Amino acid sequence: MYKRLTHIGIAVKDLGISGPVFARLFGRKEDHIEEVAEQRVRAMFFRIGEGGVELLEPTAAESPIAKFLEKRGEGVHHLSFEVDDIEKEIDRLTAEGFEMVDKVPRRGADGFRIAFLHPKSTNGVLIEISQKTD
Ligand code: ZN
Repeated sequence: MYKRLTHIGIAVKDLGISGPVFARLFGRKEDHIEEVAEQRVRAMFFRIGEGGVELLEPTAAESPIAKFLEKRGEGVHHLSFEVDDIEKEIDRLTAEGFEMVDKVPRRGADGFRIAFLHPKSTNGVLIEISQKTD
């Protein structure tokens, strides 16, 4: 079951430049910054109601975000939806014919386990499903 749009992920080159832009846009400071070593990114979160914005800066050249920036430039990177049972949802999506980038959930930022769907099976949109860890 899909519960909400958790966040919109935005790829940025430099949080030191983009962070203040979004802070000015929302009229306040970010909620938190976190490094996710496994994904070689630094993430800055702005919570907005039930959802939010996640700014993603690469921390290494081989980061998936660095590759995205090279190919597409800065901008919307993915949409993240919270589900109640991520393993079950991966099985359901696989059975529906969607191609999963992650067949097994991995650790994301902000206390979530996440899995990406391949954008070629979702009209070019990178979709992340996520489940809060307790
Ligand atoms: Zn995300």
